[in-house]
Amino acid sequence: MKPFDPASNIQDLLQFGEYGDVNPSITDSATFTFMQAKTMADTFHGETQGCFLYSRHWNPSNKYLSDALAAMEGTEAAWVTASGMSAITCAILHCVKSGDHILSSVTSYGGTFAFMSNWIKRFDVEVSFVDITDLEAVKKAMQPNTRVIYTETMTNPMLQISDIPELSKIAHACGAKLIVDNTFTPMIVAPCRHGADVTVYSMTKFINGKNDCVAGAICASAEYISSLIDVNCGTAMLLGPVLDPMRSSSILKNLHTLHIRMKQHSHNAQYLAEKFKTLGLKFNYAGVPEHPGHELLKSMMNPDFGYGGMIAIDLITAEKASKVMEAMEMKGVGYLAVSLGYFKTLFSNSGKSTSSEIPEEIQQAMGLSEGLIRFSVGLDNDIERTFELIKQSLKESE
Ligand code: PLP
Repeated sequence: MKPFDPASNIQDLLQFGEYGDVNPSITDSATFTFMQAKTMADTFHGETQGCFLYSRHWNPSNKYLSDALAAMEGTEAAWVTASGMSAITCAILHCVKSGDHILSSVTSYGGTFAFMSNWIKRFDVEVSFVDITDLEAVKKAMQPNTRVIYTETMTNPMLQISDIPELSKIAHACGAKLIVDNTFTPMIVAPCRHGADVTVYSMTKFINGKNDCVAGAICASAEYISSLIDVNCGTAMLLGPVLDPMRSSSILKNLHTLHIRMKQHSHNAQYLAEKFKTLGLKFNYAGVPEHPGHELLKSMMNPDFGYGGMIAIDLITAEKASKVMEAMEMKGVGYLAVSLGYFKTLFSNSGKSTSSEIPEEIQQAMGLSEGLIRFSVGLDNDIERTFELIKQSLKESE
């Protein structure tokens, strides 16, 4: 069987503007006119192909980007949202009702954790958190009313790898859906090809790669996406977190370079991992055989994109981590900033920033050290020079 090639799938799409524009033109309209009233009524009921009604539902610019994302994921459809959080919350809320149960990875993005542990409770939806790499624990925690298993392909910030094929079997055996956040590993893994029902993204990160906007995406079957935007009951249609078409247009252009960027992010992170090993540093990177999820990730990976740009080092104390991060920023390694997937290296202390919503005792239980620095490695042309600067920063902070 030919390996799945998300980059070629995007390249093969023929998306033109109405004047033959090589970049599809931006549809700068909230509403759309009809020549016949019946066509409008039919469009409302989802019965007309190629007609647009209102941009909270569909807009041609959003459709171009969604089609390209679906091609990348090998899903029938996709829909683009105004943030990663709105993609996550809509995808989850669309699958549950009051009285239902969700099983979630305990290590996930702090905002997702807060949504599950604090917010969704008000609608009487129960959430259990598990170590998602412990499949026996996952099986044990399933309940008759479990409707969703939620995880990240590569978890934030512990960089664990989820066994998507096995998790999907567990979910489907109980009539639940598997929702996977693939924000750290676009191109590298296409979760729906391994049994996930829904793949969500924060496009703010690698997919856009420019740190100039916040955006998200939901990729799934045509049936799921059309029910998500159904005018009567669709969670996304009724909560309304649609992406602005101007942004869709700029993200689509950036999507066409994602495959090259992912290769360079991976190349640079792999280089740093090998060097960190020689320094005897405690680090976490899925591209080295010592990582517990290395073989699993390999078994799910699309060829040629590497193991991704996310790497973490553990400096044991928050004080040491702060010193090293400040030194790295001064030397030009990158920026002390949250977020990831940017062309420059970004680093932050996860426990004190993007995972600070997770209570300290849970951070400790899941092994999140207070001295953990998470790096999103940039597109540096000379990664050897960057490593030297990191080494100097470590030395000066001893
Ligand atoms: N998923 C992951 C893995 C993230 O790291 C983030 C943000 O940091 C989000 C989702 C949320 O995305 P956004 O900030 O675009 O709403």
